[in-house]
Amino acid sequence: MGKYETPMLDELEKGPWPSFVTELKKATKVSPMADDELGQLEKSFQTKRGYWKHGGIVGVLGYGGGVIGRYSSIPDEFPGVAHFHTVRINQTSGFFYTAEALRMICDIWDKYGSGLTNMHGSTGDLVLLGTTTENLEAIFAEYSSRGWDLGSSGSAMRTPSCCVGMGRCEWACIDTMDFTYHITQHFQDEMHRPAYPYKFKIKTAGCACDCVAAIARADLSIIGTWKDKIRIDQAEVKNYADKGMDIQGEIIDLCPTECMVYDGGEIKINDVECNRCMHCIAKMTKALRPGLDKGATILVGAKAPIVVGSLLSWVLIPFIKMDPPYEEITEKIEAIIEWWDDTAKPRERIGELIEVKGMRPLLEAADIPPVPQQVKEPRKDPFFFWAESDFDK
Ligand code: SF4
Ligand code: SF4
Repeated sequence: MGKYETPMLDELEKGPWPSFVTELKKATKVSPMADDELGQLEKSFQTKRGYWKHGGIVGVLGYGGGVIGRYSSIPDEFPGVAHFHTVRINQTSGFFYTAEALRMICDIWDKYGSGLTNMHGSTGDLVLLGTTTENLEAIFAEYSSRGWDLGSSGSAMRTPSCCVGMGRCEWACIDTMDFTYHITQHFQDEMHRPAYPYKFKIKTAGCACDCVAAIARADLSIIGTWKDKIRIDQAEVKNYADKGMDIQGEIIDLCPTECMVYDGGEIKINDVECNRCMHCIAKMTKALRPGLDKGATILVGAKAPIVVGSLLSWVLIPFIKMDPPYEEITEKIEAIIEWWDDTAKPRERIGELIEVKGMRPLLEAADIPPVPQQVKEPRKDPFFFWAESDFDK
């Protein structure tokens, strides 16, 4: 039992689901910081006010990001959280850890911080919650000497993240973990030394199920897909029917492009019309599989509603091969970022910039051909401005 009464937070422990309050209370047994964190949070619930002061530049030598300064605005009342900085650790690709690695992370964190963690932040980093300015260099030295690195924060390339991909999932059309490791290494400088107009997030999903929610969150979404035909095992189709699946109702009628037919015996797909949404494959796992000519669709522009409204990604490159050493995709990403970096106002995400300028300048700068798949919505503007160079083609 901690030193504070927490009647309002106690309400959040009721019900059958896990509670962060229960976990906080456990941490108070070993961490005075966690105790004061609990006390301040209860006060916030009682008074309906937040007591965190954001900001102040804190960090470690040679890095411009990775630590987010956080201070209590009532340190006399809760001295344990006078400083409560967040340390971001670059997560493993696909979030795979050994128990030994997790123990190492937690042991170091218990030594220098509150012991509280957030697995994982929405960018993807492994987030360590609550330490003091004096401890930062020591924390960084211990983690980096064991092979860990800080993640990213601020106006920088944010720590790239991905779904588990080929590590566990039969639907992965690309090696999400290998690519994420590659792109993380490639953009090390841009991650640790913020020099962009604002944040830039890259997320990679192995298929359109998009388990990493790239389409809703990443400035650049890389989604595995295929070009050829969905592989069909008609014997397994029959098995599903024999076991009582309503193939017409559950699969055919829900295909968004209406490109499937079922004659009571076999499924046929007009693959030219299929938009690779994964619905049928995810429902009939034994009968249907992605094609074999695999690569990725690149989408651009998502963001959460921090400055202005939220945006979902839309297609920029319908299909690109994703084989190591990833030269073509890496060059395209660099060109896309360069255009945004040169053109955007401070705190303008690439999706917002495209809404202002249109796709054309980005396509020209990154040498990406215009294709129908890039059309996000019907034109509202009746005028079209031709460039002199359009007549040379
Ligand atoms: Fe599997 Fe696709 Fe989810 Fe990745 S996004 S884990 S490939 S279902
Ligand atoms: Fe239809 Fe989607 Fe299956 Fe393609 S993947 S056939 S669009 S349900």
